Amino acid sequence: MKYLIILGDGMADEPIEALGNKTPLQAANKPGIDNVAKLGRTGMLDTIPEGFAPGSEIANLSVLGYDLTKVYEGRGSLEAASMGVAVEPGEMVMRCNLICIEDGIIKNHSAGHIGSDEAKELILFLQEKLGDDIISFHPGVSYRHVLKMKGGNKSLKCTPPHDVQGTPFSQVMIQAESTDAASTAEYLNKLTLLSQEILENHPVNLRRAQQGKDKANSIWVWSPGYKPQMKTIAETYGLNKGAVISAVDLIKGIGVYAGLEVIEVEGATGLYDTNYEGKAQAALDALKENDFVYLHIEASDEAGHEGDYNLKIKTIEDLDSRIVKPIFEEISKWDEPVTIALLPDHPTPCAIKTHTNTPIPFVIYTKGITPDSVSVYDEFSAKEGSYGLIRGKDFMEKLMG
Ligand SMILES: [Zn+2]
Repeated sequence: MKYLIILGDGMADEPIEALGNKTPLQAANKPGIDNVAKLGRTGMLDTIPEGFAPGSEIANLSVLGYDLTKVYEGRGSLEAASMGVAVEPGEMVMRCNLICIEDGIIKNHSAGHIGSDEAKELILFLQEKLGDDIISFHPGVSYRHVLKMKGGNKSLKCTPPHDVQGTPFSQVMIQAESTDAASTAEYLNKLTLLSQEILENHPVNLRRAQQGKDKANSIWVWSPGYKPQMKTIAETYGLNKGAVISAVDLIKGIGVYAGLEVIEVEGATGLYDTNYEGKAQAALDALKENDFVYLHIEASDEAGHEGDYNLKIKTIEDLDSRIVKPIFEEISKWDEPVTIALLPDHPTPCAIKTHTNTPIPFVIYTKGITPDSVSVYDEFSAKEGSYGLIRGKDFMEKLMG
């Protein structure tokens, strides 16, 4: 038996008045997905454990069977993995944003969505000036970078910068949550102030100011953690090997720690214009070599963040006709059976443009199983499904039967 999870990020939603009180999943024309629901079994999945925010990294770790209270070590560690930056025991790793501060106030969390080339120049400059035996800076994509600190203590209260735009930065600096972490907090706050001194008049920033762009004139470090202690998927479920296909760094990073091969697909953008056919083909190819494939499609989440329900319907219809239908048709011809699951990680309702922790609908299909009575796939039908409501971390066991 082989296993394929198709995950439509943020695909679940709430009823929308303009759609006749239907959700985008209910409003979309999706015969391929509904066919899987008709032949398979459905249920609801609670992917966000108590005490965790409904982030994609949390929800995807749940879907992959991990107990968040045991494995979660922050975003920085996952992004570091996808960037190829190793985290060793004894090191702390954090997300390091480049942000824009004006008159002491955080103007934005992204330094005006700075491009990766300019950002890299600044991060390498920070490494040259402030990097040492303890601290190292690692360039990533746009404003998203990684900071490693040897001997750092992670019991810190840090503030995600996207939550405090418009706030004086001095009010939301790092605080220690234990006396052991006091020196780490002090060290990182000093580092932030030093970064402001040396970034303000860096040629990249002088040029940006001249062009009317936001300066990248401070670092902002948050989401501290150590190297995650994750058993691989293959180890946990007695499989040979697995693969992950995604355009998103966080998901690729999870894949690295989960022991999955990260497969890159040309033209995978993480948006509605992604290379659906390429991703479907990559999943089929990967299933020939692997027991387990995690195919992650980001587009519906981005449509939800934009609050654009028509676009969200389109992303669901594209997922249906360009991913689910061709994959289902192809594997139906194979001798080796493939169990297929389809689900989102969390809802991203268009009305509020952000994630919620409401349970999501899922469907699991294996050739020859007795289907339940549910014959369409959406947030309400799946409540009648034979699986009932289950906890996120139990999903993989249900998938494996
Ligand atoms: Zn999202």
